[in-house]
Amino acid sequence: MQRKIISILTECQPGISPPDTAGDMPSTVHDRLARPMRDLRISVTDRCNLRCVYCMPKQVFGKDFRFIPHGEMLSFEEITRLAGIFTEMGVEKIRLTGGEPLMRRHVEKLVERLAGLKTPDGRDIDLTLTTNGSLLAKKAQSLYDAGLKRITVSLDALDDRVFRRMNDVDFPVADVLKGIEAAQAAGFSPIKVNMVVKRGMNDGEILPIARYFRHTGIIPRFIEYMDVGTSNGWELGEIIPSDSLLAMIDAHMPLYPLPPNYPGETASRWRYRDGGGEIGVIASVTKAFCGDCTRIRMSTVGRLYTCLFATDGFDLKPLIRDGWSDAQIARVLALHWQNRDSRYSELRSANTDMPGKKVEMSYIGG
Ligand code: SAM
Ligand code: SF4
Ligand code: SF4
Repeated sequence: MQRKIISILTECQPGISPPDTAGDMPSTVHDRLARPMRDLRISVTDRCNLRCVYCMPKQVFGKDFRFIPHGEMLSFEEITRLAGIFTEMGVEKIRLTGGEPLMRRHVEKLVERLAGLKTPDGRDIDLTLTTNGSLLAKKAQSLYDAGLKRITVSLDALDDRVFRRMNDVDFPVADVLKGIEAAQAAGFSPIKVNMVVKRGMNDGEILPIARYFRHTGIIPRFIEYMDVGTSNGWELGEIIPSDSLLAMIDAHMPLYPLPPNYPGETASRWRYRDGGGEIGVIASVTKAFCGDCTRIRMSTVGRLYTCLFATDGFDLKPLIRDGWSDAQIARVLALHWQNRDSRYSELRSANTDMPGKKVEMSYIGG
């Protein structure tokens, strides 16, 4: 069976005829570890105006770095068509990411198209976007008006000097805070704030960020620094394990745990005992959550990745540009997902040999 799936996938690569289908879309599909495909992350650009040290270090993403030329990117029509096929197959949640998604020109137009997608039983899909917030003050209202109702803003420090050191382009924190205020004023809910914690760089900002967002309704989420890609020089000693982080916050602002909102939620949820609000902790390194991972990722050029730590992607662009029907594309997507056995973080925890050349975070999005 396995060999058959692999050979069908190989045959489906460009230049080979599309699979024969009776015209029906395969509905919910499960991978080799019985995980359904539920979340689609779409990277809309690989470019970014920041150079966060843990994601796009300047030494690698410098002046000579060759970003994807515009003509090679999927158009909004192509993204929407593929997203529609994914939703027919059981995807209920779509996150736009990048690079910096707000740097893609007229991204609101894409939001408007995606916001109209429905699940097969008629529910609105859950559409969200992760941004560094630098352009949010300008764009919050137009994104909201286009149909985006939830948003995640990355913010690694409140202290301006620390923030500038993290983003490495001297970008001021005040502008991101203005972006978050604009998102609140526009009506976004929930607003989540992602803080990647790197030991020795911004761990002193954990408590200030936790305090700053108490009683605001905004949910800060603390993320363990991950070994994504191959350019950030990651070392295990640079993470702050989520248990220590929680103990630190709990000692000042006591917490109690909340149940997950849905199976496979990446963040564990906690609430302040005094009613000050909620926080989340994403223990991607110390408590791998591969067992419930229902995420599939599509890069700016239409390559499909079944894991954040994948080494290779499957190219969908020739399929949509060579006249394949939705049902034929869906068949290939189903085969691809059925062949999936990704569980990188669990294997990392078990200290198994790891793949070498992993795809960069800025290429497929977080
Ligand atoms: N540019 C946008 C932003 O920063 O929000 C979207 C793309 S960014 C790749 C998505 C998320 O991945 C951000 O919250 C970022 O902090 C996180 N991220 C990037 N590199 C990471 C790493 N090595 N470990 C953990 N999280 C990382
Ligand atoms: Fe850009 Fe986001 Fe990566 Fe920072 S984390 S460099 S903002 S893509
Ligand atoms: Fe999912 Fe891969 Fe992350 Fe595991 S390592 S949770 S399979 S993206």
